[in-house]
Amino acid sequence: MEWIDLRSDTVTHPTPEMRAAMAAAPVGDDVFGEDPTVNRLQELAAEKVGMEAGLFVPSGTMGNLAALLTHCGRGEEAIVGAQSHILLYEAGGMSALGGIHSRQVREQPDGSLALQDLEAAIRPDDVHEPVTRLIAIESTHNRCGGVFQSPAYLRVLADFAHARGLVVHMDGARLFNAAVAQGVEARTLTAPLDSVTFCLSKGLCAPVGSVLCGSREFIARARRIRKQLGGGMRQAGVLAAAGIVALEQMIDRLAEDHIRARKLAEGLAGLPFVRLQGMPQTNMVYFDLDESVTLTVEQIEARMQERGILIHADGRRRFRLVTHYWIDDTSIERTVEAFRALLL
Ligand SMILES: *Cc1c(COP(=O)(O)O)cnc(C)c1O
Repeated sequence: MEWIDLRSDTVTHPTPEMRAAMAAAPVGDDVFGEDPTVNRLQELAAEKVGMEAGLFVPSGTMGNLAALLTHCGRGEEAIVGAQSHILLYEAGGMSALGGIHSRQVREQPDGSLALQDLEAAIRPDDVHEPVTRLIAIESTHNRCGGVFQSPAYLRVLADFAHARGLVVHMDGARLFNAAVAQGVEARTLTAPLDSVTFCLSKGLCAPVGSVLCGSREFIARARRIRKQLGGGMRQAGVLAAAGIVALEQMIDRLAEDHIRARKLAEGLAGLPFVRLQGMPQTNMVYFDLDESVTLTVEQIEARMQERGILIHADGRRRFRLVTHYWIDDTSIERTVEAFRALLL
């Protein structure tokens, strides 16, 4: 059966061009800094985000963790969104492995962190309190609905943080979705920030990997942290080769995923019992089911699976559907039809 897999954009497989590039990639020992393909990916990534240097890491989680461990010392505090991936879905790594204290600020509905909330969260110079070191911003913001932050907001956020001696890290797992949706280059979003992690393995279809970017000095320190975390890879060029194809060929087409997410949302919004969280800005459709629906989300998952459609519940009444390279127009129509058949 051809599955329609809407659980996440992480389910994408490498494209034929990626597999060819992987097979042909020149490699070396990347812990010695001698893998030419990894080096090329890192340079390309840094150029894309308008920063000096990049570091190839196995996952977005390791990229964020390495960034936090590089910026913050033990007992220091990172301000994070209360719904952020770093706080909720990275197994508490910053606290478990770095002794970094998290301070949570509730996101605005658009995924931003309000400056007055940040101001209130920054610690005074008082021996009773941890030292505030960093603000983490997520864009696109996953749990807030795949929403993006604007260049203007990010510039203001960076100026705000720097004026207070803080750094800004962006969890930009889907940075390029944010850029494409706004019709801007990624660097327009990230250049004012101190560091950013983005994923190659989601909508960009590479099989493995993320890149952490920042200043040359920051990346030199992050390289040692990556080694501590066990993320120093050897002939990683076979993986980086797919990442280069991702950055060269797969960014612009993300716009198609956004159009299809919108079509899916519009189709679902036409059904009674469906409450959209909002019109999707990028490739995620979040919605809640009315209490009058008697099927549980688990039952709905199972019935959809019988129809060849994989979906993932995100709460007792809530679903998140994600469009990506393997979701075409027919998949969208079949999914809306299946929900109609199930719920009506
Ligand atoms: C996927 C994701 C990450 C990183 O996840 P990995 O699976 O470790 O690559 C980080 N932040 C957000 C918002 C994500 O969606």
